[in-house]
Amino acid sequence: MAKAFRSNDEMELFRAACCSFGIHLNTPQVEKFKMLLEMLLDWNKRISLTAITEPSKIVIEHFVDSLAPIAHGLLSEGISIIDVGTGAGFPGLPIAIALPTAFVALLDASRKKMTFLSAVREGIGLTNVELCHGRAEELARRHEHRESYDAAVARAFGRLDVVLECCMPFVKVGGRMIAYKGPGVFEELRFGEKAAMELGGIISNVLEFFLPTTDIKRTLVIVEKVKPTPPRYPRRVGVPQKRPIANLLK
Ligand code: SAH
Repeated sequence: MAKAFRSNDEMELFRAACCSFGIHLNTPQVEKFKMLLEMLLDWNKRISLTAITEPSKIVIEHFVDSLAPIAHGLLSEGISIIDVGTGAGFPGLPIAIALPTAFVALLDASRKKMTFLSAVREGIGLTNVELCHGRAEELARRHEHRESYDAAVARAFGRLDVVLECCMPFVKVGGRMIAYKGPGVFEELRFGEKAAMELGGIISNVLEFFLPTTDIKRTLVIVEKVKPTPPRYPRRVGVPQKRPIANLLK
């Protein structure tokens, strides 16, 4: 009883924060987020999924944060999206719940995370989610994934040029990549600009905003894909991180 009471409070906070972000979810969608919160808290006791354990923080810093591109009109219904290095499903799971006719592929190299994501998909009944287990550098070379998505998203995946090398190959020409970053991103932009150009993209915008109800500053880096990514990218597993692309470009 006490637990249900508490998660209702959190869901009120979530609904209010979404509203102030301009996102209006219906009751079945809020119910899905509540189930996700409960599964995350439960599974996190056994496997390490998130360092944030306070439910009210999870709803703001994981759920609402994940929805920021929707609030800014950057992702919409009907499109295909890949979340590269999704971990416990962020930002991909909240996006899939909020956009039920979008198709969302969740990619991660960790098998433990895949087990959790699979349980969530079944438990919540998310029919628009596909799981992709493996390294981004390898999966991006497969025909079924290469330049196949309208959008790629990534949060907490690494330096901007590393993120771009691992994500841009998945994006169709005419699509976009969205990197979720903190306020420190401005120091990475020069790496990002070089890398974007090399990989067939252009950084079109950097959006700064506060997470609703907090003083936490977040940024979204938007990269438009203007031409195909050269076939030599991404390089072999581990190389994008070990020898970041911007360090090699003049
Ligand atoms: N996006 C999530 C998780 C970030 S942690 C969030 O913001 O909460 C980074 C995740 O990326 C980890 O789960 C790790 O397993 C995965 N990862 C790191 N490098 C990867 C690679 N090259 N290919 C696929 N997954 C990778």
